[in-house]
Amino acid sequence: MSNATLSSYNPATGEFVGDVPVTPVSEIPAVVAHARTACSKWGALSHAQRKELLLPFGERLRDQQEELAALLTAEMGKPLSDALGEVKRASKPFAEYLDEIEAALATEMIEDKYVRSEVSCEPYGVCVAISPWNFPLYMPHWMVIPALMAGNAVILKPSEETPLIAQAYVDILQDLLPDGVVTIVHGDEEQGKALVSSHVDLISFTGSREAGKHIMAAAAKGLKRVILELGGKDPLVVLEDADLEKAAEYATFNGFRNAGQVCVSTERVYVDSALYEDFLVQLQKNVEKLVVGNGADEGVTIGPLIHEKQREHVVAQINNAVEQGATVVGDLHAYSERFLAPLVVTGVSHDMDIMRQETFGPVLCVMPFDSVDQAIELANDTPFGLGAAVYGRDVQRATEVAKQIDAGMVGVNQGVYGAKGCPWVGAKESGIGFHSGPRGHRQFAQVKVISLPK
Ligand code: NAD
Repeated sequence: MSNATLSSYNPATGEFVGDVPVTPVSEIPAVVAHARTACSKWGALSHAQRKELLLPFGERLRDQQEELAALLTAEMGKPLSDALGEVKRASKPFAEYLDEIEAALATEMIEDKYVRSEVSCEPYGVCVAISPWNFPLYMPHWMVIPALMAGNAVILKPSEETPLIAQAYVDILQDLLPDGVVTIVHGDEEQGKALVSSHVDLISFTGSREAGKHIMAAAAKGLKRVILELGGKDPLVVLEDADLEKAAEYATFNGFRNAGQVCVSTERVYVDSALYEDFLVQLQKNVEKLVVGNGADEGVTIGPLIHEKQREHVVAQINNAVEQGATVVGDLHAYSERFLAPLVVTGVSHDMDIMRQETFGPVLCVMPFDSVDQAIELANDTPFGLGAAVYGRDVQRATEVAKQIDAGMVGVNQGVYGAKGCPWVGAKESGIGFHSGPRGHRQFAQVKVISLPK
């Protein structure tokens, strides 16, 4: 991006929300050099010292949660209550979150008869965090905070669709931390590419599979560390003994929240053929209760898609499926501009792109199956492997099915979110490396072993 400024527009109204200066690509080496200078002092602090400096951040987020949520909705479109939930998710358990990271990074002593070793987590140096627009505050947060706690200086490159909320987030952090420890670079993939190929040590990326592949290839030249959290095509398998209402409720919630623009959205539902018709009836009842509109308006549950290009992608995938024999339940043309009605698509098959490639819109494809083996095979028939869910009253059997699904996170009679401390992890082309929980936090640090004879 070579413009001087990056303007942000409300996806629901088209109104101008604000702008930020674009970082010229020619300035990126100087930005990285500044971060490198800052990280020598920052990295020399103890985890406890870094935690103390970061601790007020949670309260600052809490103090500003209403205005941050309003900005998030204006810039990204999600319902205001969801935006507030996103800010709260970052701010509420913040002290506990820092404690969890500190514990994960603590030095460990390992010894045998002959040797005593100290295993520590050291900073990598400069970490670039590149984030998407769908959770424009939380996605930066889950990369920036563990990277900082590990002693890295962080350069955040937020999505060009949501620069203002990322700027507001970084403004608060910069107020609390020494100069150069956190920097923001604004721009699009041009700035992202320049950062990846600059003198940085770790690239933490959350975004599309396509961009992730480019980043991995570019990083390979310098064997730079990468953590890639990428797209998904999550299945839900509804077994014959499932609680139909609960399964349909989950499909509705997880298929349409954030207008389906969630990496772990349920995009495909495989239903035992004995339940198929009843499931569709229940699903349709739920879908009729959803309200499409401006996320800032009371009662709206589905906001706009982020931009016209995203809507075009979703509509093209549906049209392509219809040409191959699928049926749309709902009105594809009910709304214009960036809005789409929540849609259920039936009569689908795995020859269609819509069953194997990410949609990222308010669309649920539903397909019957005749045997559990067939359901597992269909669930696994995609290059992605982020999340999945299985519903069935016989929990042991449902868990056996969950074990056979090639995904990083599988919920049984619930969504993919694990207990506190679990990692957020994708399989197959949904990612390399992962975040969250002690195992995830350690990925932001260089593990080092110092050994002495006993
Ligand atoms: P995107 O890949 O288009 O962009 C993400 C970020 O990468 C932006 O900041 C963009 O400017 C930058 N970028 C794009 N190409 C780049 C390149 N070649 N080099 C460096 N930087 C580059 O993704 P998006 O449209 O912003 O977000 C939606 C995608 O993110 C979906 O595929 C979704 O599933 C995925 N996502 C995954 C997770 C997860 O946890 N796995 C979470 C949220 C979103």
